[in-house]
Amino acid sequence: MPRRNAVSVHRVIQDLESLYDPPRSFLTWETPFELLIATILSARCTDAQVNKVTPGLFRTYRTPEDYVKASVAAVEKDIHSCGTFRMKTKNIRSLCRKLIEEFGGKVPQTMQELVSLSGVGRKTASIVLYAAFGQQEGIAVDTHVQRLSLRLGLSMHQTPEKIERDLMAQVPREKWGVLNTLMISHGRAVCTGRNRKCGACIFKDACPSSLTRGKRDLATKRVDGVWQSV
Ligand code: SF4
Repeated sequence: MPRRNAVSVHRVIQDLESLYDPPRSFLTWETPFELLIATILSARCTDAQVNKVTPGLFRTYRTPEDYVKASVAAVEKDIHSCGTFRMKTKNIRSLCRKLIEEFGGKVPQTMQELVSLSGVGRKTASIVLYAAFGQQEGIAVDTHVQRLSLRLGLSMHQTPEKIERDLMAQVPREKWGVLNTLMISHGRAVCTGRNRKCGACIFKDACPSSLTRGKRDLATKRVDGVWQSV
């Protein structure tokens, strides 16, 4: 459910499209398989860091078989700088085995099949389906989408799953994919995690979290008397 004083989702999309023309993904990739791997690596890591690692990684590991044949230690070393490398290595090798055994070595093209792969949730699946296959099957809710949705009043929930449900109910389906990259663009440039720049924001007159209107940050919650980011 949106807040009663939310900025309308139609205005959010229209205004963001007037400001930004983002790519389908900020990650660097050439094949659906590369995008899948890059998206998994981007969990708790910046896109910039992933884009530094993947050119070399994709030269070494071209197919799912390459990740399975390599030793765990070798893969861990090659993705180490993307963080949580042990879990990511485990998930990547496991999903590569499944791609080989069940999908002929190819990335599947349905939400149900994608989320059956290790380490792939709705966020990763939505990104891959939209950016690689042009399908609008979900709205990827990362930290930027979560923060902007709360600040703009588009959702009163705090978990990505519930925020996605709220957004899907309001956003026209043909905009599900682009909403993610539009919100990331605005979240990086203006509506940043700390020190949001409301004075320079296109939504400052209507946003229920606008500093220029003396509003509190709706992307925070009170824990033990202290406001913390959601
Ligand atoms: S007015 Fe402030 S809080 Fe609202 S979207 Fe803009 S930068 Fe974010």
